[in-house]
Amino acid sequence: MTYEIQKTDAEWRAELSPEEYHVLREAGTERPFVGEYTDTRTVGVYSCRACGAELFSSETKFDSHCGWPSYYAPLAEGRVEYIEDTSLGMRRVEVRCARCGGHLGHVFEGEGYSTPTDQRYCINSISLTLKPAE
Ligand SMILES: [Zn+2]
Repeated sequence: MTYEIQKTDAEWRAELSPEEYHVLREAGTERPFVGEYTDTRTVGVYSCRACGAELFSSETKFDSHCGWPSYYAPLAEGRVEYIEDTSLGMRRVEVRCARCGGHLGHVFEGEGYSTPTDQRYCINSISLTLKPAE
C-alpha cells in the first residue's frame, strides 16, 4: 500500500519521540494501564500522532478494562487499514493509520463486550492525540 504521507526513517525519527517512533514505526506496544488516554472520557476526536489524520471519536470509546484505550469502531471506514499479524504465534489483526501507515494497535472481535460491533480496537495512547471538542 502506498501511503499519502511518506517519510524516511530519519525524518520520522526527527519528528517523533523515541517512544512514539517505537510504537508508530516499529509496531511496538506501550505497557498496559500507563497510556495517557486509557481511561479518558473527554469528548473529542483522536487523531494520528504522526500525521494528524482523524481516526477515532470519543463516542465509540468504551471501558474495556484491558489497559489500553478501546474503541468499537473507527471514525470512518478508510481511516484505518487492517493487516494480518501472525507475530507472537497467534493470528491478530493489526490496525494502522491509512494515511501514514503508522502502527496504532490491534482489533479483536467476538469478545462479548456490549457494544454495537462487539469489536475492540485496542490502541496505544502514544499513537494518538486527543483534540477535545470545542
Ligand atoms: Zn497517520
